[in-house]
Amino acid sequence: MKCLKCNEKAVLEIKRHKAAFCKTHYIEHIQNQVAKTIKKFKLFPPKAKLILAISGGKDSLALWDILLDLGYNVDGLYIDLGIDDYSTNSRHKSEKFSEKKQSNLYIISLKEIYDIGLNNISKHTSRKFCSLCGMIKRYIMNKTALLGDYYAVVTGHNLDDEATSLLGNLLGWQVGYLKRQEPNMPPSEGLARKVKPLCRLSEREMAGYCVLKNIDYIIEECPMAKGASSITYKEALNHLEAKSPGIKDQFYLGFLRDGQDYFRDGNSEKEEIDLYHCSLCGQPTTSQDKCNFCKQMVRVNLDPLKVNENIKDKLIHKHWLTIIFTYLILFGYC
Ligand SMILES: [Zn+2]
Ligand SMILES: [Zn+2]
Repeated sequence: MKCLKCNEKAVLEIKRHKAAFCKTHYIEHIQNQVAKTIKKFKLFPPKAKLILAISGGKDSLALWDILLDLGYNVDGLYIDLGIDDYSTNSRHKSEKFSEKKQSNLYIISLKEIYDIGLNNISKHTSRKFCSLCGMIKRYIMNKTALLGDYYAVVTGHNLDDEATSLLGNLLGWQVGYLKRQEPNMPPSEGLARKVKPLCRLSEREMAGYCVLKNIDYIIEECPMAKGASSITYKEALNHLEAKSPGIKDQFYLGFLRDGQDYFRDGNSEKEEIDLYHCSLCGQPTTSQDKCNFCKQMVRVNLDPLKVNENIKDKLIHKHWLTIIFTYLILFGYC
């Protein structure tokens, strides 16, 4: 098979586009797709200061690589939840990548803050492990973006993730989520903007990018996610994609283009949600007392505000290191 662009031998085929590319043109194709997504959904302006959620997996590391290559100002944020070997390995891969690219990586570690990991915290709360994990990660990402004055929280959700989540929301008729499932969620008071520049690229395409760019990522999935219904939905969509290449793309991007408005129209009254401020951390919440994060932490006798202090310390520490380093360069010591 020949490369669509240069006629050299192709290394990877993208069935849904009926195209194949050599190494150079494959990398260029993926980077162009991300650049087009940023433009199409107006995700962020060229000079915006961005914080990218890093998991050590293929999507977040590839996205970091792409955004840096495209010239964006993007720092990484790794949240260490203390999930045994999985956290140790994924953290290690993330640190190695940030060293290689000489980019800022902030690490917020639950064990460092509270001396216990998520496995122990979850035993004392009412929420399922994955839902607790997601909630804590979203809370920390949002707080870091607000405290660090970032334009947006960037995540590596790909086309497979978004199509899976759409299928789950449709199967459960989660109308509230269907209205809001967008690659660009604008900010509101106390909540940072959230963007997903990989939403038009598949999992397989991102894995191909990592191989060709020599990006060392953690291959295994989180051990706690085994048996999650999202994995069944993902398998169902993969089955459909194998029979009809392009169906995932059509399902998700077609929904954004032609379907989502049906869930918004005529339902504006139901959309009104009363928001209060958390009595401990000030985060907007639908509860009249504490936000979900503070509620769960208090239940385990942990001080939720320690997370905020830790984020501030990390941001300030990095800020001073940058100033000192800049002065050293200015005065010729480095
Ligand atoms: Zn080529
Ligand atoms: Zn709170």
